[in-house]
Formats: sequence, C-alpha cells, structure tokens
Amino acid sequence: VRADLVIRNARQLITCAGPAPFAGPRQRELQVIPNGTIASEAGLIVFAGPDAEWRHVAGPATGIVIDAAGRTVLPGFVDPHTHAVYAGDRRDEARRRLAGASYAAIAAEGGGILSTVAATRAASDDQLFEASRRRLDEMLRCGSTTIEIKSGYGLDLDTELRLLRLIRRLDLNHPLDIVPTFMGAHEVPPESRSARSAYVETIVERMIPAVAREGLAEWCDVFCEAGVFTPDEARTILLAGQRAGLRSRIHADELASSGGSRVAADVRARSADHLIFATSDDIQVLAGAGVVATLLPIAAFYLKLGRYGPARALIDAGVPVALATDLNPGGGFSPSMPFAMTLACFAMGMTLEEALVASTINAAYAVGREAAVGSLEPGKQMDVLVVRDDPMDLLRVGAEAIELVIKRGSVVVERPGDS
Ligand SMILES: [Zn+2]
Repeated sequence: VRADLVIRNARQLITCAGPAPFAGPRQRELQVIPNGTIASEAGLIVFAGPDAEWRHVAGPATGIVIDAAGRTVLPGFVDPHTHAVYAGDRRDEARRRLAGASYAAIAAEGGGILSTVAATRAASDDQLFEASRRRLDEMLRCGSTTIEIKSGYGLDLDTELRLLRLIRRLDLNHPLDIVPTFMGAHEVPPESRSARSAYVETIVERMIPAVAREGLAEWCDVFCEAGVFTPDEARTILLAGQRAGLRSRIHADELASSGGSRVAADVRARSADHLIFATSDDIQVLAGAGVVATLLPIAAFYLKLGRYGPARALIDAGVPVALATDLNPGGGFSPSMPFAMTLACFAMGMTLEEALVASTINAAYAVGREAAVGSLEPGKQMDVLVVRDDPMDLLRVGAEAIELVIKRGSVVVERPGDS
C-alpha cells in the first residue's frame, strides 16, 4: 500500500467506522483500534487498522510519518449547524442577558437576528469574507474539519445570494470543507412585518429558484417557532426547496413546543435541530421518520434557557443524535465542538462515546457528507485529529488537548506537545 502520510502507533485509533447514522446503543460504539495506524495517499485514507497489520502491507516509506505513541487519533469534527457568515456583533446583548434580559425581550426591541441583518446588509463582501474567515480559523483550531454554514442574515434576494456566494468563496479559500444551506426563512425581515405571506411567497417563488439555478446550496432550512415561521409556512418552504433539489433541515422546538418536529417528520427532513422543547410524542415521531436530532447545547447555555435538548430520551428512542456549535452572534457564542461535547456530557447526560459519535459520523450524516467524512475508513478523506492523551481530555475546556488537525492529508493546525 502506497501512502504519503502515515500516523503510527496511536494508543487508540477511534474510527467510528460502520454504516451511518449510529442510533440507540450503537451511538456508543466508537470502534477503537489499540496501537493503531492510519495512512493516506493524496488526501484519502488507504489504511486504518492495527500497526502490526500495517507493517505487512506498507509500501516503501516515501512520505511523512508521524509517531502518535501515547496519543488518541480520531476523525476531525463535523459541525452541522452554524451561522458563521455575518457582520457586526451582539456582545451588548450577551451583557444584557447576564443582567437578566431574555432572548425574546431583546428580539422584541429590534435586537436579535434583525440587528445582525442590518449590519450584514450594510457590510461589503470583503468585510464579510474577512470576518468569517477568522471564525473559520477558530473552528479549525478547535478541531472542526467540515462545517455547515447557513445564509439567513440577508432576508432579501440579493443579500441572500451574496451570502451564499461568500460561503462558496470561503469553501474555495479555506482548508475547512463547507456545506451550504439556504435559510431565507431565518426571520421575517423588518420591511415585510405587515406582509408575512408575501415574504413566504418571495422565498418560494424567487429566492429558492435563484439559489437552485446558481447551485449555491445543498440544503434549505426554516426557523419554525412562535413569532417566526409557522409549521404550515415551514412545510410550504421546505417542500418548495425539495422541488428545486434542496434537501430539508429545520430549526424546531427551540424556545417552545412549536410543531417543528412534526414538520421535520412530514417532509422527511434529514435533521431537526435544537429540540429543547420537543415532547415525548415528538421524539417518537422523529424516530419513526428516521430524522437526525442535531442538538446545540452551546446556544441553550449562552441564552440561559435553563434546559437542554432531551439527548437521553432521543437516544433511548433510537433517534440518531448529532451535536453542533450553532456559531452565531447571538447565542452561539463559542466555535468549539469540544465545548458542545462538554455540555452534552455534563449537562445533557450523554456519555463521552455518544458525544464523539455525535460530533463525527452522525454529524456528517446530518449534512449528507457521511460517504466522505466523519469516520476513518479507506476511501474517505484523511481528516484527523491527534489528541495529546485520552479523548476525555477534549472535555478539559481550555487545555488545548488537540495537538494536530489534519485536513485531507495536510497538517493545518499544529500545537507543540509536551514530549
Ligand atoms: Zn441556527
């Protein structure tokens, strides 16, 4: 076997191999190879197995060899829900939340998403590109190697297209792989407040066809919530997206029980996201429809919601669970998948193994990239993290346990380890 990159002798090689998604008891099955070696050629994995086996199949050594003795090697994280392209910031709102104001009260005064829409519309392409690129760098340093990004801070045809073109430009100019989502239904724009149905019509009849024509998105998303888009509106928009070739995902039951889970099941969405207020009936409906639950504990934490998505009940019902950061200027205040995993473990009752599966193969499945990334198997991309010691160290917030981030066979982040 020829290889231009080999990582040898990992104390544990966590592969997350097997058919995706991992649901129920399988959500804990990391597939760990002790004393493991992984090799790639031209960015694609050619071997993942015991080092003893590698010695038999290895071709002449020509490329880079990394000794991972004592380290854990695992798939790069996939972050399946971000709003990383925006201008301005809302740190003032975070300060107000610290002083007791609620997310709903801030939004009612014109803060929240609409204040970011105003800043984003006013920003130039280059300003947006630079600000977003810095956020992508942060995510990469936290171990994410593939991320989803949604539009949704434009809320008019021209700005939504502009944001999706910027997402494409970032994908072409940054080591991260980016999965693009059209989310014109992130909020009703201020100029359409008295004409909601006309805005839904604009999304269906003008925005979705234009996005599809330019091939700018793979997914269509809707914020289904009281005061934003109703279940009927969400259904209409998502089905219109499907007719144009955009697959469905949805923000559901984040701030109240909104009917979003039902919509996800009705339209066979790949993923229903947030689900903080999903009921036990909703969970059964999601399980029956094969929808992935993407949970975003970072948003629940920074919004001070006082509760989290029902991870345990979802896993017990056989719903595959993914984790995401929700990076955005409001509640999604952290770019770190390890922090999402930390909250999943210490606030939502998930085990470390479940959180790792949720951040790798299930997250890849949530954005339709399970054939290319999310696990370490021959044929997939060499997207790999080398962790200093044990994967439990990923939960030691701030300890910088990730020594190496490798994307498509190239080292893109390197931290000096203590040897
Ligand atoms: Zn979101």
